[in-house]
Parts: sequence; structure tokens; C-alpha cells
Amino acid sequence: MNGPSVEPCDFTVFGGTGDLALRKLLPALYLRDRDGQLPDEFRIIGVSRAEVDDEGYRALVKDALVEHVAAEELDPTITERLLGRLLHVTLDVEDVTAWHSLHDRLKDGAAGEEVIRVFYLAVAPALFGPICEHLDQLGLATDRSRVVLEKPIGTDLASAETINEAVGRVFDESHIFRIDHYLGKESVQNLLVTRFANTFLEPLWNSHWVDHVQITVSESLGVGDRGSYYDRSGALRDMVQNHLLQLLCLVAMEPPTYVDRETVRDEKLKVLQALRPMTPELLERDAVAGQYAAGLCSGAAAPSYADEIGHESHTETFVALKTEVQNWRWAGVPFYLRTGKRMSERVSEIVVVFKEPPHAMFPHSEGATEPNRLHIRVQPDDGMRLHMTAKEPGPGGIRLRPVSLDLSYAAAFGGRSPDAYERLLMDVVRGNTTLFMRRDEVEAAWAWVAPILDHWARPTHRPRRYPAGTNGPVAAVTLLERDGRSWQETE
Ligand code: NAP
Repeated sequence: MNGPSVEPCDFTVFGGTGDLALRKLLPALYLRDRDGQLPDEFRIIGVSRAEVDDEGYRALVKDALVEHVAAEELDPTITERLLGRLLHVTLDVEDVTAWHSLHDRLKDGAAGEEVIRVFYLAVAPALFGPICEHLDQLGLATDRSRVVLEKPIGTDLASAETINEAVGRVFDESHIFRIDHYLGKESVQNLLVTRFANTFLEPLWNSHWVDHVQITVSESLGVGDRGSYYDRSGALRDMVQNHLLQLLCLVAMEPPTYVDRETVRDEKLKVLQALRPMTPELLERDAVAGQYAAGLCSGAAAPSYADEIGHESHTETFVALKTEVQNWRWAGVPFYLRTGKRMSERVSEIVVVFKEPPHAMFPHSEGATEPNRLHIRVQPDDGMRLHMTAKEPGPGGIRLRPVSLDLSYAAAFGGRSPDAYERLLMDVVRGNTTLFMRRDEVEAAWAWVAPILDHWARPTHRPRRYPAGTNGPVAAVTLLERDGRSWQETE
């Protein structure tokens, strides 16, 4: 991915020594630098409480690049160029008296006030409000500044509103970038192109021809060292409220007039507002919470969630839901969502299952017909697969066989598929919010999951156990079997 160079920028990462910064943000900036997108006047300022100077920070980032950028992408000259852009400011953002250090660093840049300023908040959400307030008080939030908020934006509707209010007091909505890295994935953007830059799918993309839609985001890993965060969050907050609902929006939205920042987000918002509200009766029937027990993952023994975090817990590590988009296009079409940790494999996939042909023309043929299915693979091996029925070659009657048309991006386009953060960070600098969540979207998503959160917060609620290495509790299978359907597992 080469693109035109962005404008001069001071790119400040609060949490510059953290996992997200070292594993994702700095490698993404390295790769954009490698492709010539960062101008000479592009500084990267890491902020943390760590007592490291610029040189110490450069050493830390150098190690991170070696670890997180593929060896064939690493070039010593580009690495030195990127390291030369780096500064570190030691600052406890909660200490009002310490902020002069960042103030001085930002003010001493050659490009002065005119430079674009990005403030990337890769810290706990509780710090978002205080950071914005200090940026405002010190006059650091200029008209050319943007703020980037990492998930989670709150833990429920009320806390999301509080964060949005606090950030919105300082930054105009057009300068606020709520990141959901799924929206930066090539395959997710290609979903829009596939739907709206081709004619053959759109006439079929509705309740007349689509039987149901499945969206699965499964991980094979457990919570690892994120246990204390995860146990307060759970899969519904960590995955469904953001990533899965965003994918659902892109599948279900109406064609926007243009692909621009407001129209795309307007259409996604309408989908969120059309989701069938989860009543207590529906929750009992259509929502499954699970938690992994000990099991086998990739042939190795895997501990239970409780063993991994060190105590018993009722937090869900798996969610399966059935919902509907209550509008003209989708009335009556179930959308099944599923996400979990310690499942059989790491895969993110959307499957659109079409209806059976209206008339069985080949009643005496051998072989079963299967409904057409479009698999949109988000990760890994992103691409698309359309399952069709074909005649098996040969004489002596007609034998039907399922076949697939494959579009693998790696095979079709070659080269490296850029990481979502590469695209999104450049969009931030350019000021393009199209692939970021607007405040009303985030709050509509929280409003929709609120009854599920409340229902699962009851003291009597217990997630159903599933052995690590499997695809969730039996109840998740029953959720579809009850409707005469089944999950499309990866072939
Ligand atoms: P992390 O590894 O714990 O890093 C936190 C960073 O914030 C460190 O650099 C830490 O440095 C700094 N920090 C903490 N308190 C500070 C303070 N008072 N003043 C200044 N700096 C402070 O966390 P992370 O995994 O990078 O995640 C950061 C945020 O992004 C979290 O909210 C997380 O939920 C979210 N997120 C992370 C990922 C991911 O892949 N890691 C993905 C999506 C969202 P010091 O302790 O030295 O100050």
C-alpha cells in the first residue's frame, strides 16, 4: 500500500510504552515510513510514566520492531529514520503539575502550531477525560488536532456517554477518531466494494433471497495476561458491542449515496437502531453465554478460564446471539452472531446463506443440493468464497456436486496485505473519519447490548461451560438447530 505523503504531524501516543503501541502502532508507522508516507517533519512522541529518555525509548521501540515487523520488511536505514522521529516524555497524566514536559516538547517542534497534532489515547478509558481536559487547559488541542480513542469506550451506555461528553467538550466530533481496527481490515472494506461496486449481489441481498447471516469471530487463545481486564469486561463488551456489530452493520446497511464520513456512518447507525430489542423472553431463548473449561487446544492441554485468571468467575468468554434487523430489506432474516476464546481455531468470517432454489428441477439426480453461500473471510487468509452447485462431469445422468468460486486476496493481488492500523493511522492524520465510529453509533451499540448486560449481571446467571478447543457450549448449536440450521464451520 503506497499512498501520498501525509502532512507534517506531531503524533503523540499516550501509553507509548504499552503493548498496543509497541506491538501495533509503531510497527504500523514504521511500515508507512518505509513506503514513503511520512514526511521529514513527522515526530512520534511516546508518553508514559516510565523514566526513560529519548534514547532509551528508541532502544525499546527498536526491539519491538524486530519482534513485530516481519524480518523481510525490516530495513536498517528505514529503522534508523523511524527511530530518529521518536521522543519520549515521562508524564503521569493524572499529575497536573507534570504536564509542562509534554507542553514544552510539543511547542519546540520546527513546524510549530501549524503542524497537525494527533493524540492517540492508548491508555485506560478512565484517563480519556482527564487527558483531554489537560490538553485543553494547556492550549495543546489546536484546530488542527485529532484525538484517537481506543476501545473500550466505556463499559456500558452511561460510562460511554460520560467519556464522549468529556472528550466532546474539547474536540469537535469531526476530530474524534474512535477506532475499531476491524473497520481498517482490507476484507472488511472490500465488503462495501463487493456489495456496492458490483450489480449481481445487491438484487439478492435481502429477505427474498437470503435465508440467514452468520458472523463468527473466534479465537483459539485464552485470556493470557489480560485476565484482570477481561474478567471485568467479558466477550459481550470486548467483542460484540464493537467488532461484531460493526460487521453486522456493513452486511446489512443500505447503499450510502457516497462513501464519505457521514453517509456511511448514517447508514450504519440506521442498522443499529433497527436491531430487534432484546426482551427478557428473547434473552432466554436467543442469547447464550459460555465460559471455557479445561480442554485440548491444538493437541495441547489448555487450562480452564478460572485456572487462567486464578479464581472462579461468571464472566462470559463466549457469546452466541440471534437477532434481526427490523426493516424492509431484512424483515424475518435471522442474523446469528458468535464469538469466543479458546475455540477450535482463530477465524473471523461472515457467511451469507441464500435460500434454496424455488423449484427442485433435478429430483432424480444424485448428490445433494446445498443452498448457495457467500463466505467473506476477514482473517486469516482474507478473501471470499461462493459456494454453488455444479454438475459433476461424466456420462450417465446428472450428479450434483457442491463447488466453490474462490477469491483469495493473496492469490489475486499478491504482496503483503497491510495491517488495519497502517490504513487507520494515516486516515487519522488526513482527518478522514469514515472508518471510525461516530458517537451516536457507539452509544446505539451500547444501548442495544444493555439488556443483555443487565440480564447476565443477575446473581443467578451462570455462563455455560464448553471445553477449550471446541466451538462453544451445546446451547449455541441448539440456537441454530432449533431453526433447522447449523453453524458453517470452516472447511
Ligand atoms: P498496557 O500494555 O498496560 O500499556 C498501558 C500504557 O499506558 C503504558 O505505556 C503505561 O506506561 C501507560 N500509562 C498507564 N497509566 C499512565 C498514566 N497515569 N500516565 C501516563 N501513562 C500511563 O496496555 P495496552 O495493552 O497497550 O492497552 C492500552 C489501552 O488500549 C487499554 O485501554 C486497552 O484496553 C486498549 N486496547 C489494547 C489493545 C491491545 O492489543 N493491547 C487492543 C485494543 C484496545 P507506564 O505504566 O510506564 O505509565
